[in-house]
Amino acid sequence: MKILRLILGDQLNSQHSWFRTISDNVLYVQMEIRQETDYAYHHVQKVIAFFLAMRHFADERRAEGHQVVYINLDDPVNTQSLTQNLLNLMADHERLEDGTPGLPFERFEYLLPDEVRLNNQLRTFAESLPIPVQGVDTEHFYTTRDELTRHYGSKNFIMEFFYRALRRKHNVLMEGSGASLQPVTGRWNYDEENRKPLPKNLPVLPPKLYKHEIQDVHGMLVKQGVRMMGTVDTSHFIWPVTRGEYLEMLDFFCENCLLYFGSYQDAMSSGAWSLYHSRLSFGMNTKLISPKEVVNAAVDYFLNHRDTVSYAQIEGFVRQILGWREYMRGIYWTKMPEFAHLNYFDHTAKLPDFYWHGRTKANCLRHAVGQSLEYAYAHHIQRLMITGNFALLAGVHPDEVDAWYLSVYIDAIEWVEITNTRGMSQHADGGIVGTKPYVSSAAYINKMSNYCKSCHYDKDKKIADGTDGSRPPCPFNSLYWDFYDRHRAKLERNPRIGMMYKTWDRMSPEIREATLKQAQWYKENLEEI
Ligand code: FAD
Ligand code: SF4
Repeated sequence: MKILRLILGDQLNSQHSWFRTISDNVLYVQMEIRQETDYAYHHVQKVIAFFLAMRHFADERRAEGHQVVYINLDDPVNTQSLTQNLLNLMADHERLEDGTPGLPFERFEYLLPDEVRLNNQLRTFAESLPIPVQGVDTEHFYTTRDELTRHYGSKNFIMEFFYRALRRKHNVLMEGSGASLQPVTGRWNYDEENRKPLPKNLPVLPPKLYKHEIQDVHGMLVKQGVRMMGTVDTSHFIWPVTRGEYLEMLDFFCENCLLYFGSYQDAMSSGAWSLYHSRLSFGMNTKLISPKEVVNAAVDYFLNHRDTVSYAQIEGFVRQILGWREYMRGIYWTKMPEFAHLNYFDHTAKLPDFYWHGRTKANCLRHAVGQSLEYAYAHHIQRLMITGNFALLAGVHPDEVDAWYLSVYIDAIEWVEITNTRGMSQHADGGIVGTKPYVSSAAYINKMSNYCKSCHYDKDKKIADGTDGSRPPCPFNSLYWDFYDRHRAKLERNPRIGMMYKTWDRMSPEIREATLKQAQWYKENLEEI
């Protein structure tokens, strides 16, 4: 063996050019390590999904003829440190079994990590090695790490413009050529048509689920004392973990969900934990499938089914992947590590415990948190407008919010978690990702879901009316006005928000005072909500 190549848990790209040639001179290494299980308090399904996906990946590469060393979490030789395991492997390779010198590696290669944490660790490690080292692109994303900055320099990073540039560059949903290249239909964006509540009689198809044997992996994690959150049904592990399964999920999405995706992507229902969303994020984030494959498959399906799939559906889907996903990657590499410390509103509150156990009287939060704990999944609007919205209104410290989002979701990897949480959801970046904070009262939640119908709280009230037996006022309502009131200096001049202050100022001083008093009670009693 001459070359040692490292593959991290989220680098399972079997289509990478590395695997085009089978060579006895190359040894691949994959490892399950405490360094990775312990840097966050991960959801149990997330850890299981990662380890299963990594194990399948190793088996598939071996079956193709590649040489792969796979170090299990409970392997006696496992030091649980990425770099120490690599050093040991290199040292072992220099010795034959009888202790005499073997053939040392002539070169170390690694795929460039998506996280600053691992990127720094591997760069320092590389500098310490006496052999040549190469960091290699993962060949997964549409864009390079610095493409966003190269596009816009120090100017404002507006997602929409980046998205349009990528549509042009990759010729996605475009027609014409050269200077006359135009979006098909002449419209770039169907965002306005992507905000519909679920109609009463629309069938919600049960999600496509898998059934994996996980007793061994789960048993190993428990035996090794790995601290994990959430729950798992060990007889029925639902997440796909191989490339083949993700390609199947992609077909399932195109055939069954795409026709409703755009219209109802913001809708929420207490009756189903998964609506028409693709649930492909884990597959993409681990690189089992590529964003290009997903976008191309969906666009092909759309082109062949224009009678059933409208442009608003496909454009809405493409925008999430070619737009938001690549944009968030660009923001991450441009703004980290400073981004991880931003706290624009100086929020300090602790995240309520019910985020970790799901017991709350607020129906929307109970459903969004509950399904996150049960399935390690909630869709974008549940993350943004229920759990994120509440944390922002309640003034929770962004570190606490980040820690929860990085833990709970099957797809949570820092580059795409922190940009969405600290940026889009908590506006802790002061407006780099979003031009205004995403907050709402019960009115929006009631419009987009059926949660309010059977809630302990009254969606129409801001303030307790003191009547015996009446339902308490929805906490979102008073907290919403309290948020605007306490951050007036930072938000009033935002042209997208000014109107809110006019509405607030038009309320009588008594109502405003009672609203703030009500909000204060909720802020002091977050655990009671
Ligand atoms: P679909 O709704 O089917 O969308 C298709 C794909 O588009 C997704 O798989 C995803 O790859 C991409 N996408 C959609 N929205 C975004 C976005 N805002 N940013 C980046 N990619 C996007 N996504 C993660 O992958 N990991 C995270 O840790 C994560 N944390 C989030 C935290 C918060 C507070 C919010 C508001 C959003 C977060 N997202 C995260 C984005 C989004 O919610 C998830 O990608 C999506 O819900 C995954 O489900 P899906 O595959 O069914 O997505
Ligand atoms: Fe959530 Fe308020 Fe509606 Fe209850 S009434 S579901 S707390 S928004």
